[in-house]
Amino acid sequence: MRLARFERDGKIRAGIVAEDQMIDLSSSSLPVDTIDIIASWDEPTIAVGISSAPRYPMTEIRLLAPIQPRKNVMAVGRNYRDHALEFTASGFDAAESQVIPDHPVIFTKATSSVIGPEHPIVLANDPTGTTDYEGELAVVIGRAAKNISPLEASDHVFGWTIVNDVTARDLQKRHVQWFVGKSPDTFCPMGPWIVTVDELPEIEASWLRTRVNGELRQEAPIAALIFGVGKLISTLSEVMTLEPGDVIATGTGLGVGIGFDPPRYLERGDVVEVTIDGIGTLRNPVT
Ligand code: MG
Repeated sequence: MRLARFERDGKIRAGIVAEDQMIDLSSSSLPVDTIDIIASWDEPTIAVGISSAPRYPMTEIRLLAPIQPRKNVMAVGRNYRDHALEFTASGFDAAESQVIPDHPVIFTKATSSVIGPEHPIVLANDPTGTTDYEGELAVVIGRAAKNISPLEASDHVFGWTIVNDVTARDLQKRHVQWFVGKSPDTFCPMGPWIVTVDELPEIEASWLRTRVNGELRQEAPIAALIFGVGKLISTLSEVMTLEPGDVIATGTGLGVGIGFDPPRYLERGDVVEVTIDGIGTLRNPVT
């Protein structure tokens, strides 16, 4: 299934996407918020819930981020070999002695940075004018996870979505810790929906592609992740309890703006599209 959040008539609702229609769950007995729906997910209950629910053409609703996170979006740096090399070659991390990390580099993005599909990325929130894109696969946790081994991790995944880990490069560098440069308002586009893991069990077979104004900038197989989904869940759950609705962006591939010489940062009027096979396309204009 494809779980979504959307707005219609000024009201925020949860829904299930079926081809070109949005099935509105707000009239069912299910919780209102997608995180609560995920926490109590039961496919037969959902099936009953949608059987007589109203349906709208996708053109008559506005998609929102499928989750409005209750805690920071977790994200992983330098998790594709080619990207780690381009990042180092850009001179960004001159002090960093190790190009390919031994352990996942994990940081977070503020919940207030999350926006949905088609919502604009606002460059004015980056005073340094070095706003860059990073197309990424994101994992949505379904069942609470503590001390989970990599092999057990898949039992705790609810599904997959897409995150554009938009980054203010000079802020990322200036503040050493990445939180500021990763968290300006609008810098975490997410969506267009969550595809449940049963619908896309072989995520490693998918490819990630990012286009700016139609030009292909990033193209990477999910299989090339240095630290895969199991390892990320295992690493995090060793120290903290992962909860339903937690989002982990798994890292970006080769071809970010800072990797070009000179860098190709986002400009007003650009359109960024991140596509992952089996999930869809997350599209955001830049303003
Ligand atoms: Mg990233």
